[in-house]
Amino acid sequence: MPSNTESIRPQSWQGIDDIVIIGGGLAGLFCALKLAPRPVTVLAAAPIGFGASSAWAQGGIAAAMSEGDTFDKHLADTVAAGAGTVDEKMARLMISEGPDRIRDLLAYGVPFDRDLEGQLLLSREAAHSERRIVRVKGDRAGKAIMEALIATVRRTPSIRVMQGYVVEELISEGRFVSGVIARPDAGQSKTRVAFPARAVVLCSGGVGHLYQVTTNPTEARGAGVGMAARIGAVIADPEFVQFHPTAIDIGRDPAPLATEALRGDGATLVNTAGHRFMTDLHPDAELAPRDVVARGVFAEVQAGRGAFLDCTKAVGAHFPELFPTVYASCMEAGIDPVTQPIPVAPAVHYHMGGVLVDADGRTSIDGLWAAGEVTSTGVHGANRLASNSLLEAVVFAARIAENIKGMMPEPRLYEWPKSAGESDDLVTLEDSPQLMKLRRLMSANAGVIRTGEGLKTLIREIVALEEERGRTRVRFANMATTAKLIATAAYLREESRGGHYRSDCPEPREAFRHRTFITLKDADRIAAELAG
Ligand SMILES: Cc1cc2nc3c(=O)[nH]c(=O)nc-3n(C[C@H](O)[C@H](O)[C@H](O)COP(=O)(O)OP(=O)(O)OC[C@H]3O[C@@H](n4cnc5c(N)ncnc54)[C@H](O)[C@@H]3O)c2cc1C
Repeated sequence: MPSNTESIRPQSWQGIDDIVIIGGGLAGLFCALKLAPRPVTVLAAAPIGFGASSAWAQGGIAAAMSEGDTFDKHLADTVAAGAGTVDEKMARLMISEGPDRIRDLLAYGVPFDRDLEGQLLLSREAAHSERRIVRVKGDRAGKAIMEALIATVRRTPSIRVMQGYVVEELISEGRFVSGVIARPDAGQSKTRVAFPARAVVLCSGGVGHLYQVTTNPTEARGAGVGMAARIGAVIADPEFVQFHPTAIDIGRDPAPLATEALRGDGATLVNTAGHRFMTDLHPDAELAPRDVVARGVFAEVQAGRGAFLDCTKAVGAHFPELFPTVYASCMEAGIDPVTQPIPVAPAVHYHMGGVLVDADGRTSIDGLWAAGEVTSTGVHGANRLASNSLLEAVVFAARIAENIKGMMPEPRLYEWPKSAGESDDLVTLEDSPQLMKLRRLMSANAGVIRTGEGLKTLIREIVALEEERGRTRVRFANMATTAKLIATAAYLREESRGGHYRSDCPEPREAFRHRTFITLKDADRIAAELAG
């Protein structure tokens, strides 16, 4: 039920089988399109196309579609990257449905790169044994995918998009979700609006902004995991956070990204002295798994030797044409990547953990489905294989649509009237002093390198911040809840695996070779024990 007594305006109930989707990134829009012609309302914190990691994706989507490639090879790479805890059944399902979802995206108008014969051009990324990444103009995949989907959504009369609606709470009756409460005007409005719904699909993206250095947009602040956990949903693997090794280190928040594809194309990592340090750490050097490269870069930065991505030889003069997004970010900061190495640092990039879902995207709460980065399907295990996340978003969003259709078999054709009053303004969500403190604490204690003592301190500090801010401040409560789940699961996992590295237990341990399943109740109990 709503957590405070402030006025809530009910959205006029149309008497239709409404489906509410939270989030206008790839997962949310793809699910809405797959549900057409059923009436769907998409609530998005920012205008669609903005405030979503999907639009920023540079590499592309992984799919086993080339002649030499097979589902088994893609699965083997996914399992190897996942460090022992991938749910193989779920991963196989995702991989085998990948090519069909790529064909769907082509049908929606995504201009994936093709060769002269018109075949899809597939490129290779770190830890992939085959060329299997479909891209658009080098590093423009996310932008091009989102542009095509947004245009299709705009042409689909059964989809209503409410922009600037920040969802704060899921309305629950027992273990059943019956709607959501959102705050319009990019979360600035004094009045909240209730949206009753037969089905709610959570597609609110990642957690990057719970940390100080991240590649994620401001809207990725873990609200979805927090909201779901606060009504009792089971959360899986929250401790597994992926740090991108090569965020461009020019003091920008969020930090721009130097795509993995650059290393795939032969760029090297060097320190100030010009030493190629990854060759000391892993046989695959720059193409080692992300966590290994992130720790390598982190160590150089921590030791004051600096870390740089040198693309001058491998990419050189082709940089502006092959990687226009990265080129623009560098040039804005006065670095010409054609002739100069790019300063880099690790940044929070992707959350492997999230709301536990099954193969149809159902959460542990009736009436609530989830897709995309907010979920934990188990396909990534402890570490995501590059370009598998967009794939996961489309595959499970489509499965959710099928599942919901099965439950509401009679589509009611409906055209939303042109909605008035939705905000097109791009307003950035603000960081409160408490959030800034939370972000600092998370980076210091739940970052690239963690310790049991640091995590204990972090959990106590989060509880103190919650008390200071008051549990009634819903938006902060959602963020603090997600942070607490990450910290608690990281504290309990006394080993190192995938994206989770504990310098006090640096090796994987057989006893921990399993996924984590945790509720907010569990996290609160552990926090109370640590306080006592
Ligand atoms: C820089 C960058 C590059 C990447 N490159 C790749 C790549 O090449 N390949 C790959 O597979 N993956 C890549 N990823 C990861 C991938 O982009 C994401 O995992 C994926 O796009 C997530 O899609 P999503 O729909 O779940 O979330 P998003 O695209 O982040 O969308 C989330 C949506 O929810 C909205 N939202 C959030 N909170 C609320 C709220 N409380 N109320 C209402 N709306 C809310 C947001 O505004 C947004 O509309 C990259 C990520 C980043 C940051």
